[in-house]
Amino acid sequence: MIRPVLAPDGDAIVVGAGGTGKTTLAVDLVLRAIESGIDPGAVLLLAPNRRAAARLRDRIAARLDRTTTGPLARTAASLAHGIVTRRAVRDGLPTPVYVSGADHDRIIAGLLEEEIERGDDAYWPLGRETRSLAGFRAELRELLSRAVERGLDERGLAEIGRARSRPEWVAVAEFTRRLAIRIEDEYRGFTPLDSTYVLRRAADLARAGDDAADGLSLLIVDDAQELGFGAARLIESLGSRGTRIVAIGDPDLATGGFRGALPGAFLSGGFWSRVGRSRPEALILGEVHRHGAAIRSVVRRATAAIGATGTVAQRTARAAVEVDGGSAKAVLVPERGALTAYVARQLRERAVDGMPWDAMAVVVRSGASVPRIARELRRLEVPALGAGVAELRRDDWAVKSIVEATRVAVDAARTDVVEISPSAAESLLTGSIGRVDALALRRLRAAMRRETLEADPDDTRRPAELLAAALSAPGGFAAHDRTPEGRAAHRVAMSLHETIALARRGASIEELLWSIWSGSGLARLWGDAALGAGAVADEANRHLDAVLALFAAAKRYVERDPEAPAGRFLDAWQSSRLEEDSLAARTPDRGVLVGTPASLAGSEFDLVILADLQEGVWPDPRIRGSLLGANDLADLADGVEPGAVDRAREVMHDEVRLLAAAVARARREVIGVAVDGEEETPSAFIRVFGDEAERADEESVAPLTLRGLVARLRRELARTGDRSAASALARLAAEGVPGADPAEWYGIAAPTTIEPLIDEGAPLEVHPSAIGTYLECPLHWALKRLGGDVSTAEASLGTIVHDIADQIAGGAVPPEADAILDRIRERWPDLEFESEWLRDKEWARAEAIAARLAAYERELAATGGGTLVSETRLQLEIGRAVLRGRIDRVERVVDEAGERIVVVDFKTGRESKYESEKQLLEHPQLAAYQLALRDGAIDGLDPEHGLDLGGARLVILTPVPGKRELRPQPVLDEATAEAWKQRIAEAAEGMVGPTYVAYVDSHCHGWGHTGLCPVHVIEAVSA
Ligand code: SF4
Repeated sequence: MIRPVLAPDGDAIVVGAGGTGKTTLAVDLVLRAIESGIDPGAVLLLAPNRRAAARLRDRIAARLDRTTTGPLARTAASLAHGIVTRRAVRDGLPTPVYVSGADHDRIIAGLLEEEIERGDDAYWPLGRETRSLAGFRAELRELLSRAVERGLDERGLAEIGRARSRPEWVAVAEFTRRLAIRIEDEYRGFTPLDSTYVLRRAADLARAGDDAADGLSLLIVDDAQELGFGAARLIESLGSRGTRIVAIGDPDLATGGFRGALPGAFLSGGFWSRVGRSRPEALILGEVHRHGAAIRSVVRRATAAIGATGTVAQRTARAAVEVDGGSAKAVLVPERGALTAYVARQLRERAVDGMPWDAMAVVVRSGASVPRIARELRRLEVPALGAGVAELRRDDWAVKSIVEATRVAVDAARTDVVEISPSAAESLLTGSIGRVDALALRRLRAAMRRETLEADPDDTRRPAELLAAALSAPGGFAAHDRTPEGRAAHRVAMSLHETIALARRGASIEELLWSIWSGSGLARLWGDAALGAGAVADEANRHLDAVLALFAAAKRYVERDPEAPAGRFLDAWQSSRLEEDSLAARTPDRGVLVGTPASLAGSEFDLVILADLQEGVWPDPRIRGSLLGANDLADLADGVEPGAVDRAREVMHDEVRLLAAAVARARREVIGVAVDGEEETPSAFIRVFGDEAERADEESVAPLTLRGLVARLRRELARTGDRSAASALARLAAEGVPGADPAEWYGIAAPTTIEPLIDEGAPLEVHPSAIGTYLECPLHWALKRLGGDVSTAEASLGTIVHDIADQIAGGAVPPEADAILDRIRERWPDLEFESEWLRDKEWARAEAIAARLAAYERELAATGGGTLVSETRLQLEIGRAVLRGRIDRVERVVDEAGERIVVVDFKTGRESKYESEKQLLEHPQLAAYQLALRDGAIDGLDPEHGLDLGGARLVILTPVPGKRELRPQPVLDEATAEAWKQRIAEAAEGMVGPTYVAYVDSHCHGWGHTGLCPVHVIEAVSA
């Protein structure tokens, strides 16, 4: 144990490089103070963030043999909140309510949006687009913090803005005024305080000698380099009234520089003069106990590039231990995919050697890439957890429908009406609480539609509306309990209505969420799955984590204000763009932590991999706050001329500090990985690991997973017939490793049936469009025929336009663009869109289609042509096939070839495949129409029309630049018609089965003639 000599009654400064035992010393000092008889309530250890504070409390509790009344480790904001609350209680005022960063951001975003909507935003010198960016809000919050810390109210900010010709500060001053009103409005009856303001208020109270700040005799500050302006002022104020201060840190390891941390504040003369005592001599910890010389030299090389802040003596610390296997190296990989593969391989290798997952960490520069890297690693079977800047739980599939269902309940309780939109109903049923897959949902919708029509043939409600109506009543699905999907829907409806009843009785948000959660059956489902192993268990654990985060946020919300309405919590949750500072979401107990240097501060790991050492990424040379100038404002308020500060240099020093802090977390190994490829270059930081970087070879990026091993053995077996590969696979199969048993291999299992799809001698009904699908890929056709059709019966722009074209032919709609658009507008509410931008995009397409359809009709009429029949049926027997379907139109066309009869098919899609004359000759649907015309198999068409055959044509209504809108298929002569009949008859024989060939081609992945292939979209086929 380290027992440096500190003056028993005086202040102290301790500076030590990473791993010199600063935190151990801090904990030790707390324990020694209590042992020496100081009341535990008078000793406090300050930590830089909540996670570190929680860890320190655990460490102290583990060594303290008595219970204490208050926490012995807290953050500065928590200490300040305690002081301010005490004052309020003594004054008989309501307890202040904490406005979290996420809440603050949500309120600011809402106010900015509203200003734009109302057109009440002319006071901003910055454009609307800029103001709607999340980056702008981050800068705005930064500027507001700097102003509050420095005691600048809206008037002060406006004055300084005018004096310095900074119109943006004048605008922010006006915004501050509006924001204060909005916050007060939202928190009516309470005193809302954010962390910046609470620090200032507490510092003011302490400085003024208020007794709410009494009782602290010893304040030990760990990671003092992370102190911001507000926290530093609070500590100074407490010191000025006699609290003894011990500040421990290393200015080289600050990770919060870009958020306003002042790395050298605790060493500065100004700090101690505001405390009112002379600055103590800094005690330097000279020995690093965490890691050996290899890692120490990397940290030393990095810190040498940082300008001196207070002291540099800590940089000479030497490694006092030699760690077995200790190393530091840089590795270059050829491309981004290989980077994650390499990182995953390293992590899995160490895990195989016995290193616990939670003894490893992956560090990236920016919080925004944490979720992506964590996701990619999980895909490669590394149990990775996002730390600090966690994945937005709001977007997690697991919690989304729990929140949506609770929202329905809250709204129903408020309005006394249960209103569920069709899209919300589908989303609840297919989300985590319903778990009805797409295919089962279609079955359920079809069953409900059937049942409704049997009861009332005139009921025109769409299937999705029927679902919504059924969900709006507790027993709405009771009649469908014979199918699994019906039972699932019934369960959702029952749980929803129980929760509505609870909401009507005034239950809290925690109770409502719990009601939906317990009615979902997910606790058992995921609980059981989480106890297993592999990807399914990881997935279940992630879902449970997300749910835990939701409940933790709800608990905090209720704790802050037990009377707060449940709906406000849901608003905040659904619109939050920032992760709340939550312990529940981040407890790093099971996996590899992926985080930024700041989020990993205070932790240590056997292996640390730095995965972002790319040029432009780390170091990130952008000057922060350059739009609104938060740093300039802070400097001016501190009496420093902004022009005198070299911001670029400051930024670079902060970046190096982040690097040093990340490397210093390691106990045994550090690996810096960078992509060195055509599009990305390693950053200069890679050189702190030494002059030579290693190049990753093929082996080091090969997946070290059972799945990877199975794949390799199977490849080996197929290529060489190697018996040892076969016996290794047999051994793995015996252990139940997925994919090892030949019974699971595609093409190995015997078919379940070889019966033909259609009974012997039975007619085969085929839609003309299915011929094309079959000819393109028989297997695709069979999958669609067997229930894997992904097209829906829902209204679409295409169906509306076809109806209107029919009405034009019948004279019910004039052939003018405005009239067509009016008709589309009438039916527009029937269409469902996933987002506003999709709606806008589709409307623009509707306008273009209306213009084109009107032009087509004009041209037809102008040339003396017209419609003979519209939206009619055809029926034609060819071999075993009975072709049945609808034809858009048969027209009389007049052109240079004279007056002829033509079959017309309107297309509202892109139809990009059939373009040239040669391709159009191969269009099976048009050919089938022509055959029907020749054979007089079209309903309503006078067989004595007396016109020459004019072929068929596609009319493309959605404009595609550079593509023809009229695409004719020439008249089929006798020979071609016979050839088509032959092809269709053969296709019909093939359709009977039982074998279907798969033609792999470009159509497999696109929306070609055949539509998106079910292989890719129907889970029963694709999974
Ligand atoms: S993926 Fe391609 S080859 Fe396979 S069934 Fe679908 S369309 Fe046919």
